[in-house]
Amino acid sequence: MAQKPLFRFGATDSLATLLERNEKWANRVSSVRPSLFPTNAQGQAPKILWIGCSDSRAGEGCLDLLPGEVFVHRNIANLLPDSDFSSLSVIQFAVQVLKVRHIIVCGHYDCGGVWSSLTSKKLGIIDHWLRPIRDTKVRHKAMLDAIEDPKDKCARLVELNVCAQVNNLKRNTVIIEAQGERDLQIHGVVYDPGSGLLKEIMVPEDEYAEDYFVSDAGELVH
Ligand SMILES: [Zn+2]
Repeated sequence: MAQKPLFRFGATDSLATLLERNEKWANRVSSVRPSLFPTNAQGQAPKILWIGCSDSRAGEGCLDLLPGEVFVHRNIANLLPDSDFSSLSVIQFAVQVLKVRHIIVCGHYDCGGVWSSLTSKKLGIIDHWLRPIRDTKVRHKAMLDAIEDPKDKCARLVELNVCAQVNNLKRNTVIIEAQGERDLQIHGVVYDPGSGLLKEIMVPEDEYAEDYFVSDAGELVH
């Protein structure tokens, strides 16, 4: 029997379409896993914090997990600036209250935020948000300049941005404290919208780790 084609939300579709689909989805999930919604009604205990891009193609749905399994933070270009209260709050809650065991930073190829950072075009407010990617680009200028194909250059900067955000997490005091007490793993991955596949990124050791290491025993250097 031919498989039903996957649904695509069209120009004539409305909220009613979505509500109808939602009801069918809830029924389908309940029939496969009857305990899921009653369990979720009691609270959440996810093991994973997913930090990804807002891009419609690159969400945590690619993990194929059920509701209740992934705590999520997404923003443009999966950035974790240390002045961003939104992501800092998500991280603190996920680590200290939910006690997740894995934090996954997921970038994705063909990321609009990364493409923008490769040009010198001014876009407005978002230029401030994307500034950390531009900083990463400047830090790795020689390596990136050596790549001729723009798509490959963008892909490399996507990967470097994931590494930079993993390092940001490793310098986060909430995470440093938690890692001193229990197993808390941080992973960097990149999603390929062209294949649906995730690839693990081997993040090099943070060469500035010592400068960021925070310990109660540390003393102020004058
Ligand atoms: Zn993106």
